[in-house]
Amino acid sequence: MSTDSTDPTITFDAVTKRFGAHVVLDELSFTVDPGEFVTLIGPSGSGKTTILRLLMTLEKVDGGTISIDGEYLSHMERGGKLVPADEKHLSRVRRRIGMVFQQFNLFPNMSVLRNITEAPTRVLGLSKGEAEARAVDLLDMVGLSDKASAHPTQLSGGQQQRVAIARALAMRPDVLLLDEVTSALDPELVAGVLSVLKEIASTTDITMLCVTHEMQFARDVSDRVMMFDSGRVIEDAVPEKLFTSPEHDRTKEFLSAVL
Ligand code: ADP
Repeated sequence: MSTDSTDPTITFDAVTKRFGAHVVLDELSFTVDPGEFVTLIGPSGSGKTTILRLLMTLEKVDGGTISIDGEYLSHMERGGKLVPADEKHLSRVRRRIGMVFQQFNLFPNMSVLRNITEAPTRVLGLSKGEAEARAVDLLDMVGLSDKASAHPTQLSGGQQQRVAIARALAMRPDVLLLDEVTSALDPELVAGVLSVLKEIASTTDITMLCVTHEMQFARDVSDRVMMFDSGRVIEDAVPEKLFTSPEHDRTKEFLSAVL
């Protein structure tokens, strides 16, 4: 497939995902362009996290295909045919994607610096010096230059989440997935994390897909917002349009309940 820079970075093509008899996504199709920041909103259970988990290859599709820059996630091309991906293919694709979760999942027994250098040295083969230089820059970006030798337990939730963001960026992903990254934080710590994400969105060309309940943030930072209901995109628009003059009744209802 072509990897022209104007092609979408992420393509969902007729993706179906079931859990038992429950069809969570029913032939869902959408694309995300290079460098776009797209926010997924919608009621709980509408399939948003499943989309991120599919992209992270933590789940497999039951039908359709997902590709990143033209490269299929769950399949690979062999002799002109699509066959299920092998582990080598999956790990190569995974390397292009970073994910930050609601729970920060830092390694508790490692310093902040080690948390950030571990994967680049182990997976990408960077030297210790290169990985540390990268980590120092990233700690500066997330405002935690003075915490390199601290352990995660010595940090607030907001600081831990900023380390988790730096850790994800240390792998230089093409795509960053953010799954309710402020939901576990005390309210006073949310703004610091969101401002770091805003800076990443405006200063890097990473394609970002974000599930959040922070509507003001979604409005400020997104290039596009997709409203989900029962595994379908019912509205897909720039934030000014979606938040001020939504077309679908379900979007209006959802926004009036959360805003
Ligand atoms: P959202 O992120 O929009 O809240 P999810 O993607 O988490 O929605 O979930 C969509 C639906 O899929 C829900 O009904 C949820 O219960 C179901 N689901 C998600 N993961 C699993 C799983 N591992 N096993 C069974 N059902 C699941």
